[in-house]
Amino acid sequence: MALALAMGQAAFRRQWVVNAGGSLRLVDGPDGACPMLGEDLRCRVYEARPAQCRRYPFWPELLADAATWEWEALRCPGIGKGPLISVEEIAVWGAA
Ligand code: SF4
Repeated sequence: MALALAMGQAAFRRQWVVNAGGSLRLVDGPDGACPMLGEDLRCRVYEARPAQCRRYPFWPELLADAATWEWEALRCPGIGKGPLISVEEIAVWGAA
């Protein structure tokens, strides 16, 4: 992410990272959104986004049952569109 923002690691950590009970995480953005979400609603670090973001919406908790998947589809207009994605492809995205 630091590279994607053309920042050094130390500067990135000072600006964007907090220690939450021993775990490092990004600071909260406006209204609790991800701080990497730009004003144009695009990810500012898209090519460097974490595995969790690469796998969305194929998270185990969202795939738990049809009702949960359909509920998430109300929030994400991309769900249900595009080609069918195999489990193997999703696993590769997470490893990138
Ligand atoms: S893809 Fe991930 S890192 Fe990028 S804005 Fe969304 S939640 Fe943040």
